[in-house]
Amino acid sequence: MDCIFCKIVNGEIPGQLLMHNEYLCAFRDVNPVAPSHVLIVPNKHVDSLESLSTEDTRLAGKLLLAVKEIARMENIAHSGYRVIVNNGADGHQEIKHLHIHVIGGAPMQHQLG
Ligand code: AMP
Repeated sequence: MDCIFCKIVNGEIPGQLLMHNEYLCAFRDVNPVAPSHVLIVPNKHVDSLESLSTEDTRLAGKLLLAVKEIARMENIAHSGYRVIVNNGADGHQEIKHLHIHVIGGAPMQHQLG
């Protein structure tokens, strides 16, 4: 499968890895929208949230807890941050490998959408 995030997970193309464990990887977004912009992805290919199943309950928990860990590593846990999962066409999901955006280091705009 020709998936850019699978290639980062597998080390086939470089990424600024901040975290890599048996479940997931975290790396810096190549086009950051804030001083801190990190993507957290499952190591296994999962298209989107829609493809997660109850068998992935443990993985889902690991992904969410990694958000907290990244926020602490990025020193934005106390100042606050935004967590985004774009999903499908209307959600403007560009990369079809589930990823969680963790964005912070500056005040976010108030509105969503
Ligand atoms: P989304 O619209 O949620 O699918 O966002 C995809 C994100 O992946 C964008 O913010 C891109 O800047 C980011 N991105 C694309 N290619 C790479 C890459 N090779 N390394 C890191 N981030 C990437």
